[in-house]
Amino acid sequence: MEWKEYEREVCEQLKTRSGFKSLQTDIKLSGISKVKRQLDILVETENNKKIAIECKYYNSKVDIKTVDSFIGFLLDINVSWGIIITTKGYTTGAHKRARKSQIQLDVMSPEIFTKTMSGEILAWGRFIYQCIECKQETIRYCSDLDFEIVEVHENRSMGAESWHSAMWIEDCPKCNNLIDIVFDIIEYPPGDQGELLPKINGCLLLETGNFLVNSFRDPQDEELDR
Ligand SMILES: [Zn+2]
Repeated sequence: MEWKEYEREVCEQLKTRSGFKSLQTDIKLSGISKVKRQLDILVETENNKKIAIECKYYNSKVDIKTVDSFIGFLLDINVSWGIIITTKGYTTGAHKRARKSQIQLDVMSPEIFTKTMSGEILAWGRFIYQCIECKQETIRYCSDLDFEIVEVHENRSMGAESWHSAMWIEDCPKCNNLIDIVFDIIEYPPGDQGELLPKINGCLLLETGNFLVNSFRDPQDEELDR
């Protein structure tokens, strides 16, 4: 498949998602450094977070240089999540570099991208908890959370109220204290981006990351700005 064609297909997929207020393609952007760079796709969420997507055809694995320069660019234009779609994956060095960054950068295959975007909750960025016993701060990734709908209250005045929930349970890496965090997101009315109500045990939550509810609206219902 031609990658230009693939890029169009990705845009079509994104338009079926809720929670995005704008979608731009093939745009030239310059951040604080004033250096212009082309970006394949930029979407902005209803809560004003930017997600940058590159649909590049690479002949080999994405290397640390590519990741480095993309992260630099994303920081420059104030994007919270960068995604590079490639069929080749990335080198170990590039993966480590991506995970050490302040912003989240993911390298995904087209299949994983489709799966990620169709999830009921799109979660990205880091969450950081502090153990109440030893005070150690631990960084984890929202994309590793597994959300499911745990409760639906039908027939509320504005439609159904849905509870999306993901659980994070582990022993503190330093002192083995049990850490238990439940991320509850209440979607009401349907299509609302939801309020995050974390329930925590054994820790304090210092940072929570980004969450976007997907209510799978019909693309015909509402056209995105372009
Ligand atoms: Zn601890």
